[in-house]
Amino acid sequence: MWCWRCKSEMPMLSEDEFSSVQALYSGGIKATKEFRQKWGIALEGVPIDDLFRPVRTRYEELTSMKDCHQNAIMHHRISLYGPPCEQCGKPLRTPKAKLCGACMHPKSEG
Ligand SMILES: [Zn+2]
Ligand SMILES: [Zn+2]
Repeated sequence: MWCWRCKSEMPMLSEDEFSSVQALYSGGIKATKEFRQKWGIALEGVPIDDLFRPVRTRYEELTSMKDCHQNAIMHHRISLYGPPCEQCGKPLRTPKAKLCGACMHPKSEG
């Protein structure tokens, strides 16, 4: 499925898949906070990529896409996107979009 943020075809997650990824992401945020409290360091000093590794591993299990950035994974959720554009076939950027962000083709009503 086309991701306009990544500007490429990316595997997208269903709500079930996304909820398991989201749980790991929350865990990563918590681990980041704890790490900072424990060591008293700035965010730049935190090994974010290590703390969020479970998110990327889970995404890889679900999609076989390796090492996708965790922030990108969090927008690869099918429900964030609209139906495919009638002209170019790319999904609309949001479920409520009135026209296609890629080719500007207006969505037909109904
Ligand atoms: Zn993306
Ligand atoms: Zn289009």
